[in-house]
Amino acid sequence: MNATGLLEVTAVHRPTPRTVRVTFTGEGLGELPAWPDQQLKLLVPPPGRPVRLPAAGGDVLRWYQAYLEIPEAERPVMRSYTVRDRGRDTIDVEFVLHPGAVGPATEWARSAAPGQVLGRYGPDEAYRRPVPTADTVLLAGDETALPAIATLLSEVDNALVFVEVADAAEEQALPNVRWVHRDGAEHGAKLVESVREAVWPQGQVAAWLAGEASTVRALRRHLVGRGIDKSAIEFTGYWRRKLTQDDAPTPDDLADAREKLG
Ligand SMILES: Cc1cc2nc3c(=O)[nH]c(=O)nc-3n(C[C@H](O)[C@H](O)[C@H](O)COP(=O)(O)OP(=O)(O)OC[C@H]3O[C@@H](n4cnc5c(N)ncnc54)[C@H](O)[C@@H]3O)c2cc1C
Repeated sequence: MNATGLLEVTAVHRPTPRTVRVTFTGEGLGELPAWPDQQLKLLVPPPGRPVRLPAAGGDVLRWYQAYLEIPEAERPVMRSYTVRDRGRDTIDVEFVLHPGAVGPATEWARSAAPGQVLGRYGPDEAYRRPVPTADTVLLAGDETALPAIATLLSEVDNALVFVEVADAAEEQALPNVRWVHRDGAEHGAKLVESVREAVWPQGQVAAWLAGEASTVRALRRHLVGRGIDKSAIEFTGYWRRKLTQDDAPTPDDLADAREKLG
C-alpha cells in the first residue's frame, strides 16, 4: 500500500464534548493491513489553502526531504494521530479538543466538515510495534492515548487499564477501563497516583504508556522502581507541555529516545 496520500472527510461526530471523531476515505485505505495502535502523520494545510503533498515517494527520508522543500507558506503542518477504527475503505481518527493553547491540528478538527481534505503519511507497517504480552498488561495514558488503547484492548484480554480524562463526560464505552477524572487537577497527577496505588496479581507484568511526556516519564520511573523490566515497558510521549510538535526535542526527549534505542 502507498504510505502517503490524500484523506477526504466523509463524516464528523462528537462522541464526547471534547472529542471530534472524523471518518476519512482515501486511496489505498482498503488495502491497509490490520494491526492495533496504527499511527499516522496527518498533514494539515495552512487555512484556506489546499493540502500540498511532498512530490517524492520512496522511503520516508526522501519523502521528508521533499516535505521540507515545499515553500513555507504552502507547507502543511504535520501532526501524529492514531487510527481509532477502520471501515472497508475508511479510517476514523479521534481528535482531542484540548483546552489552553491550541495548535493547527486541533483548530482544524474543531471545524472539520465533510469534503475537507488532509494529507497523510502512514500508517506504515515499518513502524508497527509488538503488542505487549505478559501475565498482566498495564495500559495507561491520557485521552490522546485512548484511540491506541481502544485498539490494543481488542488484542489484550488480561489488561489493567487506566485512562485519565478531563471529567466523567469524557468517558467512552470501553471494557475494563478504570477512568481517572482530572476534574481540574494538574494534567497527569491523578493518573500517576492511580497507577502508584494499583495492585496487580503475582507474575510477569508488561506495560504500554502514552500521553503527556513528563507524565509518561513519571509512570515509567515508578514501574521500573516496582521491579518491571525496562524492556517490558513500551512508552511514548505524545505531546509536551507548552511545546508544539514542531519544537526541537528537549534534553529529556533525547534521553527518552536513547532509552528506546538502547
Ligand atoms: C504516535 C502518536 C499518536 C497520537 N495519537 C493521537 C490521537 O489519536 N488523538 C489525539 O488527539 N492526539 C494524538 N496524539 C497527540 C497529538 O499529536 C498532539 O496532541 C499534538 O500536539 C496535537 O497537535 P496540535 O496542532 O493541536 O498542537 P501543537 O501545535 O502540537 O501544540 C500547541 C499547544 O497545544 C498543547 N497541547 C498539545 N496537545 C495537547 C493536549 N492533548 N492537551 C493539552 N495541551 C496540548 C502543546 O503543549 C502546545 O502548547 C498522538 C501523538 C503521537 C506521537
